[in-house]
Amino acid sequence: MYRITLIPGDGTGPEITEAARRVLEATGVGFEWDIQNAGEDVYKREGTPLPERVIESIRRNRIAIKGPVTTPVGTGFRSVNVTLRQTLDLYSCVRPCKTYKGAKTRYDGIDLVIFRENTEDLYAGIEFQKDSEGAGAIIDTVRKISGRSIRQDSGISIKPISVFGTERIVRAAFEYARKNKRRKVTAVHKANIMKFSDGLFLEVAREVAGNYPDIEFEDKIVDNMCMQLVQKPRLYDVLVLPNLYGDIVSDLAAGLVGGLGLAPGANIGDEYAVFEATHGSAPKYKGLNKVNPLAVILSGVMMLRHLGETEAADRLDNAIASVIEEGKDVTYDMKPAPDDPGAATTSGVADAIISRIT
Ligand code: NAD
Repeated sequence: MYRITLIPGDGTGPEITEAARRVLEATGVGFEWDIQNAGEDVYKREGTPLPERVIESIRRNRIAIKGPVTTPVGTGFRSVNVTLRQTLDLYSCVRPCKTYKGAKTRYDGIDLVIFRENTEDLYAGIEFQKDSEGAGAIIDTVRKISGRSIRQDSGISIKPISVFGTERIVRAAFEYARKNKRRKVTAVHKANIMKFSDGLFLEVAREVAGNYPDIEFEDKIVDNMCMQLVQKPRLYDVLVLPNLYGDIVSDLAAGLVGGLGLAPGANIGDEYAVFEATHGSAPKYKGLNKVNPLAVILSGVMMLRHLGETEAADRLDNAIASVIEEGKDVTYDMKPAPDDPGAATTSGVADAIISRIT
């Protein structure tokens, strides 16, 4: 019996995580769910969207599956997702993008796994507002130490990339490649322009790659990588990227295999792991039993593999593949036209998968 923290989230989160819970239980693996609420409603009641008890629950159980949580733009609370990643040091964001037969895609045979660094880079949140004291001090310091001038009316975001942060994400990508018998790891960067941040990322990636002679290593500049992925995605296998490029390239890769409704993810550190879809809370569909639960269900498949429940993960993945290939019990976003009257509901997709789990 596995005790797992289950965070339903908000918007359409509760509907899709309920579908995932039912499907995971139908594999026959024993789960005890420690249900913890976070997000908008909790914020209204308790003044914080992420009460300490949610973090404590993950620390206790070490593994969580989570629905999306809305992040207000501009005002309101900080992103629950970013806070969780930072507090629990979930440094690897792992996003597999694989084509399922029957899904609406331009290519078949794509099987990519993206390792996005989750704690550094422009995402570190070290920012200075235009006209602030901090921005002024940085502008002065830069002028003094480098003779370069930054316009006075600039906002500034800092891009830190460390040896420590790079080593552990590149190692995670290679360990994954070795364990899952993948052939190649590609490091993605812009080291030709950002010599001391992306350049360091590349230098450290090369050093780490030296410890894995059994796996091919190459590097690509990020703009070229985007073009290559659109033209020849089948040439690539495991990609490892700093935070911002990882964010953008993983959405590009999700688009290649059928869109956000099919893109699972995991945030993994040395001690804890949180499994969640790549997509957000799609709030306009809240309560309609309409959106696609497959991304969070596929995140559940990743969770089963993480737990070592390989056989159950394979059975669930096969049941999902069979539902997608038949194309009948899928939601509107996977139908040829989005207004297809035969589109399945969120719970209907879960029922169809459950009926096919062997
Ligand atoms: P979104 O992913 O919610 O929606 C983008 C588009 O994809 C919309 O058209 C939406 O309807 C569609 N979509 C998303 N999930 C779908 C699904 N399961 N099935 C079918 N269609 C789906 O992105 P957004 O609108 O930019 O963000 C909404 C909220 O979610 C924001 O507050 C954002 O901050 C938050 N968010 C949370 C997470 C997370 O919890 N990890 C991730 C991304 C965004």
